[in-house]
Amino acid sequence: MSALARGARKSQRRFGGALQPYVLMNVYFRPGRGDLAHLERVSVDRSFHEILRSLGAIGAAGAALAVIRERVPDHEPEPAVFDTAVRLLTALNEGVPAEEALLCLQIRVLALLGFAPTLDRCVHCGKTPAQGRSASFDGVRGGIVCRACGGGRLVLSADALRRWAVVQATSEFPEEPWPDREREEIHDALAELDTSHATVSVRERTAAASGRWGRRIS
Ligand SMILES: [Zn+2]
Repeated sequence: MSALARGARKSQRRFGGALQPYVLMNVYFRPGRGDLAHLERVSVDRSFHEILRSLGAIGAAGAALAVIRERVPDHEPEPAVFDTAVRLLTALNEGVPAEEALLCLQIRVLALLGFAPTLDRCVHCGKTPAQGRSASFDGVRGGIVCRACGGGRLVLSADALRRWAVVQATSEFPEEPWPDREREEIHDALAELDTSHATVSVRERTAAASGRWGRRIS
């Protein structure tokens, strides 16, 4: 939801400087006219200010929040997605690899909202791929596609498929970077899923979200 913080720019006193990016806070508000609530008071729960020390972390945190903002309808409680977002900010604040953290969040948000791709069998005929083999991936059809069913434009190696399954089943964020190829394959597959489910790319949304953030909060 969005809220108007009246007088926040003129006086730091009212909100105690709490209205910063990457702060988890308790917010007291009253409904306003239309979609915009009025912020009454806020209290900081946790600040993830270490994120601001790294451009990579800032980018990942911004893109993650944009993904969530885009995928979750307004005024719709999604406690599991919220929990995942807080875990991501905590992890980025502790300095985990930013790109991997963002990919993990994207994989988990898709799964939590019911958009997880099918990676254990062909989406078309249901045939399971041979153990330890790479598979063709088609984001438009929502998963891996066997050769007989036409295959896909992208490839997910056995390592990437295994990685994806582990990430989706757990809630930790990796402390070490992934091998480049794995990271690129997962990144490309997520990007294709993203464009096939929405008309705007994550990158465009990130830019839009940062603009919106500035406008609505000031
Ligand atoms: Zn098939």
